[in-house]
Amino acid sequence: MIPVEEALEKVLSAITPLSHATVPLLDSDGLISAETINSSINIPPLDNSGMDGYAVRSEDIKTSSYEKPTTLRIIEETAAGTIPKKKVQSMTATRIMTGAPIPNGADTVVRFEDTNDSERLRQNSNSNINIYVPAKKGTAIRQAGGDIKIGENAITAGTEIGPAQIGVIASLGNTKIKIFRRPKVSIISSGNELVSPGHSLPEGHIYDINTYSIASSVARLGGTPEILGIAKDTRKSLIDLLEKAKDSDLIITSAGVSAGYYDLVKEVIQDYGSVDLWSVKMRPGKPVVFGELQGPQNSKWPSKVPILGLPGNPVSAMVVFHIFGKPILKKMMGHKKWDPVSIEATLLDPIENEDGRRVYARALIDQTTNGEYTAKLSGPQGSNVLTTMARANGLAICPEDTTRLDPGSIVRVELF
Ligand code: AMP
Ligand code: MG
Repeated sequence: MIPVEEALEKVLSAITPLSHATVPLLDSDGLISAETINSSINIPPLDNSGMDGYAVRSEDIKTSSYEKPTTLRIIEETAAGTIPKKKVQSMTATRIMTGAPIPNGADTVVRFEDTNDSERLRQNSNSNINIYVPAKKGTAIRQAGGDIKIGENAITAGTEIGPAQIGVIASLGNTKIKIFRRPKVSIISSGNELVSPGHSLPEGHIYDINTYSIASSVARLGGTPEILGIAKDTRKSLIDLLEKAKDSDLIITSAGVSAGYYDLVKEVIQDYGSVDLWSVKMRPGKPVVFGELQGPQNSKWPSKVPILGLPGNPVSAMVVFHIFGKPILKKMMGHKKWDPVSIEATLLDPIENEDGRRVYARALIDQTTNGEYTAKLSGPQGSNVLTTMARANGLAICPEDTTRLDPGSIVRVELF
């Protein structure tokens, strides 16, 4: 048996980031930027008001107070989207709305609340305004370039794009971005007993779970799942489906890798390239297949396609995908890091470890009122019991060399 880290290192050494593509901005959520974007404009473009109020000269209102307000003459009203025409000169003011460019001459904005603006409006009169407070130069003025200056770096290559990054790119006026493209992932289930959901279930058969759980895992990471269907336990059936996978970036199969059956899969796959079956020190999981296919000897595929063979049991399939599939996809998508998000929690149930493997126990993480995390096992841990995966939000880890973790121990939990 080989340790998880060693197996992961071997797998990742065969994976390289995918090519770049330019996509509409709204299609880039969750992808990695393949370009550094410098701004060609100042943001904001002009000094503008951060408040609804009056643009004034700070020196005119130095002595203002509620008892002795400063009275200024209103020369203009201005709102966002227009350029003020008049210069604010001694003892004058421009009524200004948030986002409107600051008129020449003004160096401060006094918000309405610190003036008699509402009274003035009620009286429906008066070209004068009373200012009740002094204000330092620059108050409530948003400087041109205060967010991004011309030439400044707005997005660096390698950044993960999310809503805020999309907003920043939009603020530059761009509608497209160059990213590492989404991996196209072919998904194949295998087993004579499997039937696709939506069809009637003959006796002795079960519904195909792995196609669904793995396809949605791939999609959630930003990959594009291509569901190729269910291979029967025959050479021909498997070959037919593999042929359909030749244009993909990754093939994920499930089942057919436990001791007896591996021979069939191995035999087929070896005609198409090379694969290894590793016994990885983990539970659930253990048998993990990884290799690279390049097509049958006489008809080469456009390029080598990595293949990850997951165990058949639905929980094992998801856990092996969590450990190996996620890092593979992340590396392909240009991520520099793929360690799962993990926390430390106080274990509420025991975890037994009989055979020196790393145990990934399905657990429900909760937070106590003092902010500490607790990890409660989500139910029976058999590798076929998928409902306990559905009730969990993380995997609590019992290390290889620990035979038992008692309630109260501190465990590391990898979150989904
Ligand atoms: P195998 O690796 O083919 O021996 O499969 C191990 C176990 O996983 C068997 O009980 C299979 O019936 C089950 N299994 C395999 N593939 C799937 C699948 N796609 N959905 C649900 N169960 C599966
Ligand atoms: Mg099978």
